[in-house]
Amino acid sequence: MAIERTLSIIKPDATRRNLTGKINQRFEDAGLRIVAQKRIQLTPSQAEGFYAVHKERAFFNDLCTFMTSGPVVVQVLEGEDAIAKNREVMGATNPAQADEGTIRKDFAEDIEANSVHGSDAPETAAEEIAYFFSGLELVG
Ligand code: GDP
Repeated sequence: MAIERTLSIIKPDATRRNLTGKINQRFEDAGLRIVAQKRIQLTPSQAEGFYAVHKERAFFNDLCTFMTSGPVVVQVLEGEDAIAKNREVMGATNPAQADEGTIRKDFAEDIEANSVHGSDAPETAAEEIAYFFSGLELVG
């Protein structure tokens, strides 16, 4: 298996409830290393740019409003098969459908305020990491 990097975001519903440490523990327990991390407040245009792929979806405006409603923690996770492994640790988009023991099952409030984002493929991971981090900020 290849060592990969993936972009993770701890979303505003989770930072508001002080869940950053508990969520990071899930990543580390799964063998993912946090090789970059920063807490930021997204502007509307930064949120819209990040989610541009969803701009035709009915929930786009709500999603961007939610993502700017408080601070987020953007981070890069590294490990074997990190993209798929992170998606597994996160659980399904809708917490009602997420498996037991996943972050979204345990912490998400609903399908929108679902606590975490994780890249879904190598190409998007590379783009999303570059959206928030320079190479100098990634320390493996
Ligand atoms: P993900 O890859 O599991 O995060 O899911 P998607 O890429 O499909 O959606 C991106 C994000 O949009 C999700 O994580 C949710 O925060 C939000 N989202 C997805 N589906 C819905 C929906 O039906 N309604 C609302 N309000 N938000 C949604």
